[in-house]
Amino acid sequence: MARLDKKVAIVTGGARGLGGATVDALAEEGATVLIADIIDEAGEARAAALRGRGLTAEYHHLDVRDALAWAGLVDTAMRKHGHLDILVNNAGINISITIEDATVEQLRDVIDVNLVGPFLGMKAAIPAMRQSGGGSIINIASNSTQMVLPLTSLYGATKSGLANLTKSTAVHCAQRGYNIRVNSVHPGAHETEMLTGGEGTRATDIPQVKALIDAIPMGRMGQPNELGKVVAFLASDDSSYMTASELFSDGGLTVVSFGADPALRH
Ligand code: NAD
Repeated sequence: MARLDKKVAIVTGGARGLGGATVDALAEEGATVLIADIIDEAGEARAAALRGRGLTAEYHHLDVRDALAWAGLVDTAMRKHGHLDILVNNAGINISITIEDATVEQLRDVIDVNLVGPFLGMKAAIPAMRQSGGGSIINIASNSTQMVLPLTSLYGATKSGLANLTKSTAVHCAQRGYNIRVNSVHPGAHETEMLTGGEGTRATDIPQVKALIDAIPMGRMGQPNELGKVVAFLASDDSSYMTASELFSDGGLTVVSFGADPALRH
């Protein structure tokens, strides 16, 4: 029996990148996965590919900023599958910009997806998980909660907020006896469209990213499937005593001091 047999999971931003790899990992471990995203074609294609392998996945359009859409998706999960056991708040956006160049509108845009989105997701999922007898919520933060660059002004602020919201929610759920665990995962550099900007760019072609990668003690970026396995662990009962924790998956980068590298001075 696979670790996530009979579990029902929602993964936001699950159409591609780290969310896509997480969807694959949860489905491979036996879960029924509801892929929630705004890029419908990619989401439908990923769900169809998994079904083609005999796994269970379905795509649902969801903008994580929309509270009504969250209510609809959780209701669908409960009516169609009878329970909701796992929520992965993975959808996120990044605007790399210094505080001097950033506008308040840009800050609000990043907050809306990276912080309001998971807030709404947890508010919608907690009652359903209570009805289901418990659950596991995994919020995808970033190692930018520990290491900053001038350009992480907006992004890092939202991810630090998310890490703190994760812990507060975890303690609340634990003290209420809900049997709902809430943890955050903090990825380092992974080669996805968020890091490369898409359109065929290689992450290593971007000087700032290359300098960051050169500083990683393990000497390489993470592969999306490596992150998916970390999330699957937190989703499973193998992490049954873990709540309010921050799991870093970044090849050791967080603990390295590299502020003097001139390539990072922009
Ligand atoms: P990505 O850009 O490849 O994927 C992000 C996904 O989120 C996309 O499928 C996108 O359509 C979806 N999305 C964006 N806005 C949405 C919205 N309003 N509603 C629903 N879905 C929305 O990025 P990724 O690298 O896979 O990032 C996934 C998560 O991992 C993000 O939270 C990101 O901050 C975090 N992260 C990534 C890295 C990295 O190196 N790639 C490092 C640290 C943290």
